[in-house]
Amino acid sequence: MSELPYSYDAPVSQALFDRADAVTPGGVNSPVRAFRAVGGTPRFMVSGTGPYLTDADGREYVDLVCSWGPMILGHAHPEVIAAVQDAVTRGTSFGTPGEGEVALAEEMVDRVEPLERVRLVSSGTEATMSAIRLARGFTRRTKVIKFAGCYHGHVDSLLAAAGSGVATFALPDTPGVTGAQAGDTIVLPYNDLEAVQEAFHRHPGEIACVITEASPGNMGVVPPMPGFNQGLKDACQANGALYISDEVMTGFRTSRAGWFGIDGVRPDLMTFGKVMGGGFPAAAFGGRADVMAHLAPAGPVYQAGTLSGNPVATAAGLAQLRLLDDAAYAAVDAASGRIQALVSEALTKEGVAHTLQSAANMFSVFFTDRPVRNYEDARAQESFRFTAFFHSLLANGVYLPPSSFESWFVSTAHDDRAIQRIADALPAAARAAAEATAA
Ligand code: PLP
Repeated sequence: MSELPYSYDAPVSQALFDRADAVTPGGVNSPVRAFRAVGGTPRFMVSGTGPYLTDADGREYVDLVCSWGPMILGHAHPEVIAAVQDAVTRGTSFGTPGEGEVALAEEMVDRVEPLERVRLVSSGTEATMSAIRLARGFTRRTKVIKFAGCYHGHVDSLLAAAGSGVATFALPDTPGVTGAQAGDTIVLPYNDLEAVQEAFHRHPGEIACVITEASPGNMGVVPPMPGFNQGLKDACQANGALYISDEVMTGFRTSRAGWFGIDGVRPDLMTFGKVMGGGFPAAAFGGRADVMAHLAPAGPVYQAGTLSGNPVATAAGLAQLRLLDDAAYAAVDAASGRIQALVSEALTKEGVAHTLQSAANMFSVFFTDRPVRNYEDARAQESFRFTAFFHSLLANGVYLPPSSFESWFVSTAHDDRAIQRIADALPAAARAAAEATAA
């Protein structure tokens, strides 16, 4: 890491990273954690409380990643921790049905009206993979439409032109995905309904489903244009395909009922993860009862999981969801709005061209003065400015996602003190962004 132009005083993180690199590819268990897009030493975190993370060198950061979305109540929320402690003392996995998973499913169904039936899994990837399989089994068709810049986990058929880490590392495609898997995926530009109509026209009777992020956050935050999601739903309905809304990121974050609670467009299937697990591996897919009835053991489409509906994970998720009332969402939205205003103000003051985009309390900054409507727009930004901005904030105790293709996340715990610390760090970061030059 010594070739990088940043000075680091993170010797313990660096030593841990060296150890990690010797036993794990790239030193991390998920690529975007590696800081490769921004350079430098990934911080190894040892604890989190409220809006703060503490790294292995003893430095504290205001956390604007929130575990990539799940920690909407902040870290180590006492009621979530109590629920976990209570669950864990009764055993950690039974491989049988349990009441906790029923209660979590009931809470989800109660909040999200189109969710008539729900199946719990352990990751967002599993949720989207299973939803796609079910859509194919239900429609007896093979092709899937997805959008460039949307990320749905590392499902083989959905990695084409994906967002998140795939965008961060500018990977055109992924070795290991077969031609057949990629060939059944139709990748279209986001926010382009004409392209969707044309694809249905070109492949009559072949398209099983359209999968989209309910409001994308994996190419940075790029909300659907008015009418886009409804247009997708209508096109699916007209052509006998299923409309799958991926709410892994937006679900139970953007509102009580996720993005559905905001745009009201009724999907056939939905996927969830992140917030619903309260910081544990819990995710889900669900939707129309007649479609979900095709899932084993009720129907022929197989799907299973040793740890699905794990009692500790479901206890954490249920405790978190029960705390997420209207007041909690109002608090997250307010904190997010304040931080957005501060970021924009600081960048404007330094004359840095930027576009701040938000979807409820999710937001991100693009270093361009043009609106970002799709992946191509997102890639046209001056990412080198983000690198300088990121490192300045990191050095001053603010932890951003280490990529310009990611949403920033806040929590109910981001209080005046945490926001003031961000405000204090922003002027230098904006200056660094202004002074940055392309490599
Ligand atoms: N779908 C969306 C919209 C996501 O943002 C993610 C992860 O970031 C996933 C699916 C995959 O979830 P997981 O990382 O839990 O597999």
